[in-house]
Amino acid sequence: MSGPPAETQMQFLFALRSRGVTERKVLQVMEAIDRGLFVRGIFADRAYEDMPLPIACGQTISQPSVVGLMTQALQLTGREKVLEVGTGSGYQAAILSKLARRVYSVDRHARLVREARAVFDQLDLSNITAMVTDGSFGLPEQAPFDRIIVTAAAEDPPGPLLAQLKINGIMVVPVGQSDAVQTLIRVRRTETGFDYDEILPVRFVPLLEGLGKDV
Ligand code: SAH
Repeated sequence: MSGPPAETQMQFLFALRSRGVTERKVLQVMEAIDRGLFVRGIFADRAYEDMPLPIACGQTISQPSVVGLMTQALQLTGREKVLEVGTGSGYQAAILSKLARRVYSVDRHARLVREARAVFDQLDLSNITAMVTDGSFGLPEQAPFDRIIVTAAAEDPPGPLLAQLKINGIMVVPVGQSDAVQTLIRVRRTETGFDYDEILPVRFVPLLEGLGKDV
């Protein structure tokens, strides 16, 4: 595997650190997983810039520093079963796969799931299961989850996802209107309810209902 030139890699890691991605394990994994494999076409040469980029189906691969901050917010120990809603390019799922036990990642676009699976195979990431489904209903057959990460914006944390979170589990989700700045929030399930805290302002594509037309 080639990866970016050393100087590009250093700039990539510097941008992550300067935006608050400071956990050593997260940085190591982001150094090891080549973002260039998840970006195709005319934007491929910008894969190591800290910015979101267009992918197929009118979607985006998230900004690397946001991927890092969301990953840190999940406080993974390596033992968790994680659900990701919004596979997109598969980049976030690939990062999670190195820090958790098992990753289920779902997207409403079959094409994105197909392309992401090809990269997971190429990288031998055998603990990721990518599926085509409407993730606003979660993945009842694999619930409950230790962690849930939503990489598309919802107006509120979807009820079915809250219901599929284990007690002491953590969910990270951008909330707010899709055409405005949203807030990334962390939800912790307690014995008696849910605790919420705000992490940072973000901008994500919307969580949409139903399956994409390419299915
Ligand atoms: N995590 C991705 C970025 C995802 S962009 C990455 O690392 O590249 C958001 C994704 O959410 C899009 O691919 C979009 O198709 C998907 N999405 C939107 N609504 C959805 C829903 N209801 N169920 C599943 N996926 C959804």
